[in-house]
Amino acid sequence: MSRLYVSRLNHFRLNNSLVKQQFSVRNKNKCLNDTFPYLNLTRRYISLKSIFPRQKSTPSTLNTKPILSQDDLFHPLSTSRFEDLRQRYKQICVFGSCPVCSSQESEIKNQPKYECPDCGFPTHCSLEHYLQDKEQHKDSETCSMLRQINEDEHDLRSGRRMIEFEFPSSQPLDEQVNMSNWDTFLYTRGFPSMDNNRSVRHVSKLLTYPITISSVLHEYGPYTTNNRLTNEGLKSLFALRSTLYPKITSHDIKVQKPTDVIRIFILGPRAESQLPPHIYSQLSYLFPSIYFHIYFIGPESLPGDLHNNDKSSPHVVKHTNYTPQLSFTWSKSYYHNYHTSLAPFDPYTDVFFLFSPGISQINSWHESLLKLLQTKCAIFITGFDQNDLHSEVSAIEEKGEQGEYEYDWLLRPGENVFRSMKRDIDLKDVRVGVWTNWGIFGIRGKKYDVILEDEEESSSDHDESLTRSNL
Ligand SMILES: [Zn+2]
Ligand SMILES: [Zn+2]
Repeated sequence: MSRLYVSRLNHFRLNNSLVKQQFSVRNKNKCLNDTFPYLNLTRRYISLKSIFPRQKSTPSTLNTKPILSQDDLFHPLSTSRFEDLRQRYKQICVFGSCPVCSSQESEIKNQPKYECPDCGFPTHCSLEHYLQDKEQHKDSETCSMLRQINEDEHDLRSGRRMIEFEFPSSQPLDEQVNMSNWDTFLYTRGFPSMDNNRSVRHVSKLLTYPITISSVLHEYGPYTTNNRLTNEGLKSLFALRSTLYPKITSHDIKVQKPTDVIRIFILGPRAESQLPPHIYSQLSYLFPSIYFHIYFIGPESLPGDLHNNDKSSPHVVKHTNYTPQLSFTWSKSYYHNYHTSLAPFDPYTDVFFLFSPGISQINSWHESLLKLLQTKCAIFITGFDQNDLHSEVSAIEEKGEQGEYEYDWLLRPGENVFRSMKRDIDLKDVRVGVWTNWGIFGIRGKKYDVILEDEEESSSDHDESLTRSNL
C-alpha cells in the first residue's frame, strides 16, 4: 500500500473547500423550513433544489424553462455560461499541472491551459502536449471521468426541476428501510424514482454524510459479522442500538429512558458542517423516536447560516434546536480542547465520526484521538480513496505499535457502501478523482468491558443481555 502524498491530500482539501464554498453560495439562496413537523406519518416532500446556485437573471421556479436542455449539458469550462464553472477553469489553470510537463524532469512546468475538446477541462499546457498525451488521456478514462463531471455540473445548474432532491420526510412505521446499498435505500425510503445514474450521483453526494452515519447505526445496516464487523464492533453497536431501539414494553431497568439523546460528534468537519440541516433530517427520519444532537467540532466547522450565534460557551459558535428531535452545535475549537466540557461520555449514547480527517498528515489529530479512545465510544473514520484510507489506518496502527494508542477494531477497513457516487477532482491534478467517504473503518478505545450475561448459553437475544459496565 502506498502512502498518499501530502501535497495531494492538501490539494484535495483545497478542492473540498471549494465544495464548501459552493454550499455557502447555495445556502444564501435557501429557504429553510425550520418548523416542519416531526413524526408526521404521511410523507412530505422537501425540495432541496434551492441549495444549488442559480443564475441571478433567471429566477428558478417550477414554470421556468430550463437554461440548458438535457441534450446540451456539455460545455468547455472556459466558455460555460456559469461563472463558478469558468472560475474553476481559472483555478485549474493556476493550481493545476500538465501531465506531460510533469513527467519531464528538469523542464519548466507549464500550467494547463489547453482544454480537451472532449471533456472541456484544461488538461494540458498546450495542444502539442495534449496530442502527445491524448492516447493516455483517453485510455486511462480520465477524459470520460471529466466529461461526466462536466455534464453533471452543468446539469446541476441547468435550471431543470431537480425532482431527485425532493426528499421524503417521515418513514411510515410499517415500511422497513433496506440499507444494503444506495439503490435499495433510495427505493425503500420512498425517494422519487431515479432512472439514471446522474441523479444518484447528485443525491449521494449530499446524503453520504447522514446516510453513512445511519448505515452504521441502523439495525439493518450493511455491516455485519459476516463481513467486516468485528465482535467488538458488534458489542459497541449493540450498546448504541439498545438506545436507538428502546424496548418500550420491557420492565428491565437497563432499558433506556425515552429522554436519552444520541450525541453524534463529527470532528474536523468541512463541507459536512455546511449542509443544510434538513439533509441531516434524513438521519433523524430513520430513527423516528430518537433525539439526536449533532456536534460539528473543528476549526473549519461553519454553520451555513450564521444568524443567532451562541455566545454561551467559548467553544460554541452556534447551537440550534432544528426540530424537537434534532439539534446541532457548531464549534471551531479543536476537539481536544472541547473534550472536557462534553464529558461524561457514554458508549450507549455517544459516537464519533471523522470524515476524511487526514490523521496521517495533521499532527493535531493525535491529541484528539487520545481523548476519543479514552471515552470507549465507537469511532468511525472515512477516507476519500483506497490510499487515503490506508494512510489513516497505517497512522493509527503505527501509534498502536508504539504503545500510544490502545484500541479494538470495530469495523475492518473497506469500501463504504454509502460513499458519494460522484467524483471530485483534484484541482492540482485533474487525473485524480476521489469519492467523498469512499471507505470506512471503526475503532474504539480498548478495555471496553461489556458483559454478556450467560454469554455461552444465550445467543438469541444479545441486546437484552447487555449490561452497562463501570467504564
Ligand atoms: Zn505541458
Ligand atoms: Zn478530455
